[in-house]
Amino acid sequence: MYTDLKNKTAVITGGSKGIGTAIAERLGKEQMNVVVNYHSDEEGAKEVVEEIKAQGSKALAVQADVGTEEGVEELLNAALEEFGGLDLWINNAGMENRHETHELPLEDWQKVLDVNLTGVFLGSKAAINYFLKEDKPGNIINMSSVHEKVPWPTFAHYAASKGGVKLFSESIAMEYAQQGIRVNCIGPGAINTPINAKKFEDKEQLETTTSMVPMQRIGDPSEVAAAAAWLASKESSYVTGITLFVDGGMTLYPAFQGGRG
Ligand code: NAD
Repeated sequence: MYTDLKNKTAVITGGSKGIGTAIAERLGKEQMNVVVNYHSDEEGAKEVVEEIKAQGSKALAVQADVGTEEGVEELLNAALEEFGGLDLWINNAGMENRHETHELPLEDWQKVLDVNLTGVFLGSKAAINYFLKEDKPGNIINMSSVHEKVPWPTFAHYAASKGGVKLFSESIAMEYAQQGIRVNCIGPGAINTPINAKKFEDKEQLETTTSMVPMQRIGDPSEVAAAAAWLASKESSYVTGITLFVDGGMTLYPAFQGGRG
């Protein structure tokens, strides 16, 4: 438990399932007030809110498309109106789809970039404006991926978005460090969430993915949430501009395992 988080307010985007849900519930356990954003899964978001309330914390489900300025403004306003402030903004919402790049429709490129990169920009911008206006320290966590570093053929648009998240986050971490605003990324590896459900249901694909992880297993969303809680807390007070990989070693060039190469 990080006692400094108690009664502070967080916005988490894409909170109705997967990693977002695990983080929202973990922040609830830390006694934070949580704005749980969802795009279309209202029921899922409401369940998360009920779970957080059952832990004795406050939470609110808010529909918004993070790829729009109006959407992120609504999330900020919900935090201010319902909980009286904002301390932590987590840009978690993301999407992916597979296409060979020479056949990738512009529309799909645009959609992935809108959610994964523009959404991170818009959320960060709204949070920073609030922190600056109130002259208070703030904390931003952006969900990147091992693919901010590892190329991913047939998911080039996804990799481009996450590479963008990395350099965007490093740039603003430097830009606002003197104002007491910390900005960090989390880089998950292969985590067991709905985004991967189909892939991991297939035994062969699951084995292929597992073989790419030195720890030889898929990660649990709660393991990503633990990293988020640490980055949110003052235990990480001197940390800004990093990507904390939560990947069982996936970024360690596992092809070299056993001295190969
Ligand atoms: P998920 O599909 O379970 O959840 C993604 C969430 O984002 C969903 O709730 C979805 O509704 C939301 N979302 C999508 N478009 C949105 C929009 N326009 N506005 C608001 N919300 C929107 O996926 P996940 O695995 O929980 O992924 C969460 C984040 O972690 C993503 O950014 C993803 O790229 C990243 N990530 C996941 C993995 C993994 O293995 N699961 C690995 C690396 C990075």
